[in-house]
Amino acid sequence: MKEWSFYMPTKVHFGERVLKREAGVIAAYGKNAFVVTGKSSSKRNGSLDDLLDMLKELDLKVRIFDEVEENPTFSLVENAAEECRRVGADVVIGVGGGSPLDTAKAVAILAVNESLKPEELYDSSNYSHALPIIAVPTTAGTGSEVTQYSVLTSHGGRKGGFASPLNFPKHAFVDPRYTLTMSHELTTATAVDALSHAMEGILSSHSTPLSDTLAQKAVELIREYLPRTLDESDNLEFRSKLMLASTLAGMVIAQTSTTVIHAMGYHLTTFKGLKHGTANGLIMVETLKHIRKFAPEVVEKALGPFESEERLRGFLEKVGIYGTDVTATEKELASWADVVLKASHIKRTPGIFTKSDIITIYAHSLKQG
Ligand code: NAP
Ligand code: FE
Repeated sequence: MKEWSFYMPTKVHFGERVLKREAGVIAAYGKNAFVVTGKSSSKRNGSLDDLLDMLKELDLKVRIFDEVEENPTFSLVENAAEECRRVGADVVIGVGGGSPLDTAKAVAILAVNESLKPEELYDSSNYSHALPIIAVPTTAGTGSEVTQYSVLTSHGGRKGGFASPLNFPKHAFVDPRYTLTMSHELTTATAVDALSHAMEGILSSHSTPLSDTLAQKAVELIREYLPRTLDESDNLEFRSKLMLASTLAGMVIAQTSTTVIHAMGYHLTTFKGLKHGTANGLIMVETLKHIRKFAPEVVEKALGPFESEERLRGFLEKVGIYGTDVTATEKELASWADVVLKASHIKRTPGIFTKSDIITIYAHSLKQG
């Protein structure tokens, strides 16, 4: 019998207007909030106003850092941390998609570890304290509101996540209303990121009976509600199902981490500009076909209601994952494969992956795309 544990210390508040009802808990973390967000979407989807209203009511001092861009870099988190330190904030609140939430996590550590460099975040023995983090997600994708990960891009352009228990937000305010403003493309990319978290969680050698239960539910919800949301994008009930799936899938990867699909996808984001979820979606089918040669049962389990790689492919095609013309040279594929082979993801993925296997998966995936 497999022994397992489950750790997810974030208190999740889920529902319509939940920030207005529950934000009082933030007062316990201090008097001076540093709000980390993107350039514009949180000002349009109601999340930032809801938060600021609450912070005003709680009489907190607020500094807003609204310069987060997609795929946050080391330089960005350094600048944000410096400002956070300068204003003497005692709580960091991330509002937005995975990028602002991941930035908030890095800032919470860097702000109180003044000599720490972003690259040193990757060895968690380098630091032992951080400011408390509050998360308000506005995409239904990364699940970052319930994970110990923060994914950053290095000075050299390499995308990679660091893990620390300090990264778990104290509270997550998950209000599906904020996702109503997402475009079709963003809705698909983010939901497919959550789908890949759930499926990779099942594939991972760190899977547990509890994480599998959450993952299977997330896969079912996304299969059912992503196409329905795309047909009816202002349906809050459908949006709430995708939000639930994304939070569940985040709880899954908090236990299992991600697999080779994420490790491979990162290069398509960094070097070809694909959205994170779209990149994973493109790689997914060919990777599952490869793993099937070694571990057919776990692939069946991960596919769940999709039943076969072909049907998953049909679904991904229908929701718009394919269709972006991405080309890469043999030299590019070979250099990406070298990085993937060294990533820890590969150890958690069932089956054997040689350099040529990874190159072939990339090449076939891009051809289909
Ligand atoms: P994102 O990079 O945070 O945001 C993408 C775009 O969506 C931005 O232009 C943003 O606008 C916009 N946006 C956000 N919320 C919106 C809304 N409600 N309506 C309309 N537009 C909205 O997207 P993401 O997919 O959520 O996050 C991806 C990042 O998370 C990647 O770096 C990925 O590697 C990382 N990730 C982290 C974890 C984890 O566990 N920590 C897991 C998976 C992925 P603004 O710029 O104006 O905000
Ligand atoms: Fe992801």
